[in-house]
Amino acid sequence: MHGRLLSKLASSGCRGPVIGRDHPDYDNARRVWNGLADRRPAAILQAQSVDDVRRAIDWAAQSNALLAVRGGGHSIPGLSTCDDGLELDLSELNSVVINEEARTVDVGGGALLGDLDQALVPRGNVVPAGVISHTGVGGLTLGGGMGRLSRAFGLTIDHLAGAEIVTADRAVNWIDIYSDPELFWGLRGGGGNFGIVTRFRSR
Ligand SMILES: Cc1cc2nc3c(=O)[nH]c(=O)nc-3n(C[C@H](O)[C@H](O)[C@H](O)COP(=O)(O)OP(=O)(O)OC[C@H]3O[C@@H](n4cnc5c(N)ncnc54)[C@H](O)[C@@H]3O)c2cc1C
Repeated sequence: MHGRLLSKLASSGCRGPVIGRDHPDYDNARRVWNGLADRRPAAILQAQSVDDVRRAIDWAAQSNALLAVRGGGHSIPGLSTCDDGLELDLSELNSVVINEEARTVDVGGGALLGDLDQALVPRGNVVPAGVISHTGVGGLTLGGGMGRLSRAFGLTIDHLAGAEIVTADRAVNWIDIYSDPELFWGLRGGGGNFGIVTRFRSR
């Protein structure tokens, strides 16, 4: 399985690096916050584009491999890593783009809370989120998200206005409460089970 997966990844034209078990960065790349989740994926793809995310789903499906999606890597049970499958590391998808007029912010699916706060707080804005800067926006938002501002402003997920999501059929869609109310409902608290979010739009 290991060799088969790696050769498919290497020949697929993905932009992000594919880190296999013999790569010098492998141990560093597979490490997650909870050291007890000491798993050894067959490969780690550090996605650099939405197309990389689609390719990862393709390869995992064709190889019948597990696919673990990693945002900030803070999952306590280690849900963002796996043994023998493919770990899709979204950490390079960490852009933060503010729309002043709409009072929204677009955040990459692998951004950390620190990326969000560094862009917003100097302008006097905030998306209510967690208390630790290296928690991922992805896992925290999809799980609800609470922090110091929750009592005043609610959960992180309450401020989600839309999302770009890659679903298991490899489709890339922009969804919000009007375009796909069912899937949007699922995202709002359903964890990472409904697709891979490559961009969050928050108020
Ligand atoms: C030190 C620490 C501090 C914390 N503080 C808080 C806090 O203040 N408030 C709070 O509410 N929670 C807090 N948490 C809990 C945290 O929100 C969850 O563990 C959350 O799942 C972490 O998200 P992550 O992206 O860092 O983790 P990951 O391990 O990368 O991901 C967690 C889950 O989300 C999925 N996922 C991640 N990104 C995406 C994406 N873009 N698309 C689809 N699925 C995705 C993963 O596949 C996995 O199933 C904390 C956890 C830790 C370890």
